[in-house]
Amino acid sequence: MRFHAERLLQFLLPPQCYCCDKFLEEGQKGICPDCLSKIRWIEAPLCTLCGVPFLSRETKDHFCGACLTQKKYFTMARAVGYYEGPFREAIHRWKYEEKSYLTSFFGEKLTEGFHRYWQSGSLDLLIPVPLYSKRLRERGFNQALLLVQELSRRTRIPYSKRLLRKGIPTIPQVNLNGKERERGVRGSFHIQREEEIKGKSILLVDDVYTTGATVNECSKVLLKAGAERVDVLTLAHAIKNL
Ligand SMILES: [Zn+2]
Ligand SMILES: [Zn+2]
Repeated sequence: MRFHAERLLQFLLPPQCYCCDKFLEEGQKGICPDCLSKIRWIEAPLCTLCGVPFLSRETKDHFCGACLTQKKYFTMARAVGYYEGPFREAIHRWKYEEKSYLTSFFGEKLTEGFHRYWQSGSLDLLIPVPLYSKRLRERGFNQALLLVQELSRRTRIPYSKRLLRKGIPTIPQVNLNGKERERGVRGSFHIQREEEIKGKSILLVDDVYTTGATVNECSKVLLKAGAERVDVLTLAHAIKNL
């Protein structure tokens, strides 16, 4: 009974902001202007390789400490926004409940980010970072695939959701450090139909870049299967000690 009352209220009340739950005013959609203005988009100076933005604005793009010491298989990774505040909240909610407004908002932002760093003609194929099949069944969708579909529709670069698969479930990465994360993902991705990877310039897409261990492992597997180069684009970059 209570459930029905809640549903009814939801129907009668105006829609709420996906980040702060404030009721939206007429003409507003999805995210309120206040939350929108708080989203920080990533800008140079950045690490040339992993795309982490530097705090100091007084420097030029260069390699960050992590990229100087750890092998990266991708050629370059870029992200659109900082994984913090309303942007983080919106991504978090969207991961557990698909909202078409957010899918299209994120798709648009990802495409803007894409055009800032790449030319459509320089890439052959978009590939989403896959989810382990059990997790996919639980959640019902792969957020990286939704992003890839949005990006593909807007850039006309083809995508494939089946070439890269995640086999072995990895340990939840939340409390692991960089080294442990690397070990946690090793061997968990494999390729189907190598012939479709050979010689291709690939853009891997995911929602959040944290330590980069997952996309690095995916890149390694794709290069081993004969990819020409692998780049990475994520919606957000999680920066330590923000
Ligand atoms: Zn809001
Ligand atoms: Zn770096």
